[in-house]
Amino acid sequence: MDAFVYTGLPIRVIFADGARDRLAGEIGRLGASRVMVITTPNQKTDGEALATSLGDLCAAVYSGATMHTPVAVTEDAMVVVGREKIDCLVALGGGSTIGLAKAIALRTDLPQIAIPTTYAGSEMTPILGQTENGLKTTQRSMKVLPEIVIYDVDLTMSLPAGLSSTSGINAIAHAVEALYAEDANPIISVLAEQAIAALARSLPVIASDPADRAARSNAQYGAFLAGACLGSVGMALHHKLCHTIGGTFDLPHAETHTIVLPHAFAYNAPAVPKAAESVARALGVDHAPRGLFALARQVGAPRALRDLGMPEDGIDKATDIALKNPYWNPRPLERTGIRALIAAAWAGEEPG
Ligand code: NAD
Repeated sequence: MDAFVYTGLPIRVIFADGARDRLAGEIGRLGASRVMVITTPNQKTDGEALATSLGDLCAAVYSGATMHTPVAVTEDAMVVVGREKIDCLVALGGGSTIGLAKAIALRTDLPQIAIPTTYAGSEMTPILGQTENGLKTTQRSMKVLPEIVIYDVDLTMSLPAGLSSTSGINAIAHAVEALYAEDANPIISVLAEQAIAALARSLPVIASDPADRAARSNAQYGAFLAGACLGSVGMALHHKLCHTIGGTFDLPHAETHTIVLPHAFAYNAPAVPKAAESVARALGVDHAPRGLFALARQVGAPRALRDLGMPEDGIDKATDIALKNPYWNPRPLERTGIRALIAAAWAGEEPG
């Protein structure tokens, strides 16, 4: 057996039908009694219903969470935290909502309970991205890792079909890069292959029938595993590219991941044959990058960055930024190859 280092993250995970009914008990375990429920404006009604179910345990609902966790929103929410003497944060939503809870926890050390309603996986990570003056910065801190995560499939049933597909492929991207991470290890690799298989099986079913509860539950399980991968090991070219391209051209997060993944993986695959085999096995295909591309097409996800609004002259700009700050990647970063992969993702071509 090859040597490895594995660090387990201290998160209590509850995965069950109707698990939201256990929220009050979990708040009690934390010794808290003045909770703030956090949502986006979109999910305000769901947040209010959850607050009602908590009765006196809930002291406030904050429904201002938004994309990219702007510091101004965090500061606004902090006023409510102070005024209402909040002692626990409950985030109901996707990565944006969980991001706001994490940003508050970073500043206050308050305990967090995350109730994810997308497949983005932020609930399982000690990672926080925040935006200030148009600049997004990312940091890792155990202060932002939620104490408890509650997975309840019913809360994902309303996730629109399109967002389900791209959010699910965003999760697959975490698992793919975990397989060839600098600090990859056999435990996380097992989780990663399982995550890809669970999501690849369930996303096409959800795309054709968003009300399929069994498929939703499998997708949520895959998303949990993929989030655990993202939380445990470092990422590489694919995540860096999405960060660069998404941030520079203001493109939507999950869609950008979905389009870039087959191309970034095609670039890295020759350098990581074992990871490529693992992805192919999980997808049930011979050629892993083309299998990822076919999955995106099958679930009706967007295929080209140009369709998201990235200009053609952005290809060179993105290449420059991607090469500017060197970072670890299993294959050395070469200008010609990186430019070719961004150009293929821009045009929506099948990966080579
Ligand atoms: P999101 O949280 O931005 O949600 C997108 C929209 O879908 C929102 O309007 C939300 O209210 C709505 N929505 C969510 N769940 C719904 C449901 N079940 N039914 C109906 N509407 C629903 O999207 P996301 O993809 O989950 O998160 C993206 C953000 O999370 C990005 O900013 C990304 O950087 C961050 N992220 C962070 C990490 C991390 O580890 N820190 C990991 C993944 C993503």
